[in-house]
Amino acid sequence: MIGNFVGGDFLLSNSENLARVTNPATGEELDQVVLSTAEETAQAIEVAHQAFQTWSKVTPLNRSRILFRFKALVEENLDTLATLITVEHGKVFSDAKGELIRGLEVVEFACGIPHLQKGEHSRDVGSRIDSHSMMMPLGVCAGITPFNFPAMVPMWMFPLALATGNTFVLKPSEKNPTLSLKLAQLLQQAGLPEGVFNVVQGDKESVDEILFHPLVQAVSFVGSTPIAEYVYSTGSHYGKRVQALGGAKNHMVIMPDADLDQVTNALMGAAYGSAGERCMAISVAVVVGDETADQVVNKLSAALDKLNVGPGYDEQPENDMGPLVTGEHRDRVASYIQSGVEEGAHLIIDGRDHPLAYTSNGFFLGGTLFDQVTSDMKIYKEEIFGPVLCVVRVSSLQEAIDLVNAHEFGNGTSIFTRDGACSREYTDQIQVGMVGVNIPIPVPMAFHCFGGWKRSLFGPLHMHGPDGVRFFTRMKTVTTRWPDAGRVAADFVMPTMK
Ligand code: NAD
Repeated sequence: MIGNFVGGDFLLSNSENLARVTNPATGEELDQVVLSTAEETAQAIEVAHQAFQTWSKVTPLNRSRILFRFKALVEENLDTLATLITVEHGKVFSDAKGELIRGLEVVEFACGIPHLQKGEHSRDVGSRIDSHSMMMPLGVCAGITPFNFPAMVPMWMFPLALATGNTFVLKPSEKNPTLSLKLAQLLQQAGLPEGVFNVVQGDKESVDEILFHPLVQAVSFVGSTPIAEYVYSTGSHYGKRVQALGGAKNHMVIMPDADLDQVTNALMGAAYGSAGERCMAISVAVVVGDETADQVVNKLSAALDKLNVGPGYDEQPENDMGPLVTGEHRDRVASYIQSGVEEGAHLIIDGRDHPLAYTSNGFFLGGTLFDQVTSDMKIYKEEIFGPVLCVVRVSSLQEAIDLVNAHEFGNGTSIFTRDGACSREYTDQIQVGMVGVNIPIPVPMAFHCFGGWKRSLFGPLHMHGPDGVRFFTRMKTVTTRWPDAGRVAADFVMPTMK
């Protein structure tokens, strides 16, 4: 049974609600996870609140030293952790390792906290008056995370929350909960005191308790847009600071001058890597000009013939793409394929025909390619979150820009071109938070901020980078007078600096 980690101990729950955790490659039940009650979630929050009283007084240098040790421990255990991700999520082993390494980059950034949290100082803001601003921790912060990055997304959040002096309650996805406990164990091994980092397994009941509980100061959420919107509005209503990252529909614009072999490789990785279960996956290829579109579709269908689909582990050479996370999600993706057919898109390659799809117990689908997709179709408008790529044909760069800007999501996008002016026009005009030029998945490095625009992010601050430090701290500004000997006279007017 997969339980909680609270106050430095692994705990089971009294809840009668359990969820199945499956291996997506085989369909077998690996274990069950407890879905904690509101009371159990509240206990974890209270433990974190107690721990805050001492953790917030640990010096930034000593907090950062614990994170340095944690980073070394994750690196030592990289293969074990990556295997665990593959077994519970389905993504291929090298991809699982990749997400751990991207998560560790945030840890590396957070190790610089003595510098990042220095605050500001102004001498002589008035006669014999100095001012300094301090970046203070908030208290108990919570993270609510999705299934698709069981390591990286929590690591976008807790390294900076802990480094800045907060304590943390993580509510991971119930689909792949085990990794969160391994991370808790490694943090403990690195010397993190009890109660500073806690894990509560659960579903809506736990999430609601986090949103309602008065001791929770900030909530960092990543998941689908309807839940992100709910978490943002509810958490804000209860007076919490919230950042809530939601869904996506990422477009890659292909100009006629682009290198189409590079484009094909970029699209194969970005659309079908991790079975399309990435918030930065490319799900729409917007091709400028019919001639270019014909070539892109031909090259993609040839490449799709060679896409190796199968279990993410124990294969030599490794497969390119694993299964979908659950049977339910596989069926949902398959129903989008059906809807595309019914709405008149040209189905070039049907992932439902893959030899492993619906024939093994694993939740497999092959890669799917649609051509002649239009903006009124459901497969264009909605996030499918599976290995389905839609080709939309347009006649100019401006038409491509207008199409992308009209979409409700604005997480990531990219343009492939050799023309500098065209790339500049695109990056200037596009209403999207993360933009790549000849880079299909422009995930910013840890020292920059990660986040989308429009309905891909609710709240003013993005993840990690300078925004991450700001999100987990609040300013306190102290103004100090150093008077000469003698009295300072009473002054009844608004103080101004003369
Ligand atoms: P999800 O919204 O179903 O779940 C996310 C979290 O919310 C989980 O911890 C889950 O337990 C909880 N949750 C689910 N239903 C809830 C409810 N009714 N009330 C309260 N909490 C609830 O998302 P998912 O399927 O796990 O993840 C996939 C989604 O995450 C996709 O939409 C993807 O685009 C998005 N995502 C976005 C980013 C980003 O950076 N924008 C990154 C990764 C994933």
